[in-house]
Amino acid sequence: MSRWKGLERIVREQEPLAMHTWLGVGGAAEYYAQPRNQDELIDIVQRANQENIPVRVLGNGCNVLIRDEGVPGLVIHLDHPAFADIRVVENSVIAGGGASLPKVVTTSVHEGLAGLEVLTAIPGTVGGAVRGNVGAHGGDIGQWVAEVTLLTHAGEIVVRPRNEIVFGYRRSSLDDLVILQVRFELQPEDPRELARRLQKLWIVRRAAQPLGHQASVRVFRDPRGTAASELIEAAGLKGTRIGGAVVSDRNANFIVAEAGCTTADILRLIDLIRTQVSNRLGVNLELELEIW
Ligand SMILES: Cc1cc2nc3c(=O)[nH]c(=O)nc-3n(C[C@H](O)[C@H](O)[C@H](O)COP(=O)(O)OP(=O)(O)OC[C@H]3O[C@@H](n4cnc5c(N)ncnc54)[C@H](O)[C@@H]3O)c2cc1C
Repeated sequence: MSRWKGLERIVREQEPLAMHTWLGVGGAAEYYAQPRNQDELIDIVQRANQENIPVRVLGNGCNVLIRDEGVPGLVIHLDHPAFADIRVVENSVIAGGGASLPKVVTTSVHEGLAGLEVLTAIPGTVGGAVRGNVGAHGGDIGQWVAEVTLLTHAGEIVVRPRNEIVFGYRRSSLDDLVILQVRFELQPEDPRELARRLQKLWIVRRAAQPLGHQASVRVFRDPRGTAASELIEAAGLKGTRIGGAVVSDRNANFIVAEAGCTTADILRLIDLIRTQVSNRLGVNLELELEIW
């Protein structure tokens, strides 16, 4: 651990990652860091950079699948409150990269700022959401981003205004290491009207995804003009099971991890879905889920 000298309290070896992810499956990180402030984060990133250690950043782990054999290199988990600040300044909501997306959505609505309410019931952090440009109901998070503060692989802080960032379907050009902070510019609206809209959107969303207590992930990107869930359902795969991994019967684009599920079960189920949808419907499904 000499490479982490002085940081022993925040960097651990062979940390199991299952408990830090939404699905709760998979192996350990070779190194795992939970920095408590920006200076510690920069120190860790610079040391990893000097030693050529590969680095990954973990938000709430809603869109990552950890292999059973674990993850080589360093996983930095931005779960300290120091990275989760949410502030409102006029029509802007400024949130840390580790802030909860659902909290940012409810704060915006409470403050009478419209735009992000379509993202209700999408779990994860602001960093994960902006990097992957999450969206729902025809809108996405990227359209409201005014400015992003990032930490590079070399440990330098840079600020990117909106006109330097490209957002596409479930992707962004933000490939620097850490999203530290995002400023959203939103539209003022009557908070009561906005709260009513949020409630309706929330009810629609909750009916279309696995139950809150189920460990689940969204698996595929929607192909142009159609929903992956409809294709998987049309291929007759709702409820299909391999080991502890099951295609959700509420939305076929989700896999639910039941007790005893392994990442190997999920990978085999993903393969089966892809093969069956391709053979029966002639569509090649592309993964939205990241495999680490
Ligand atoms: C029940 C459920 C419903 C969902 N519904 C939707 C939906 O309707 N629409 C939709 O688009 N998605 C949906 N998702 C997907 C998921 O919620 C998002 O992808 C989520 O925003 C990922 O955020 P996270 O913090 O969990 O990121 P993680 O899963 O931890 O990481 C995802 C990626 O972002 C990177 N990352 C995370 N934090 C940072 C950071 N601070 N800086 C730089 N990179 C970072 C990671 O390195 C990784 O590459 C759903 C998922 C679930 C489980």
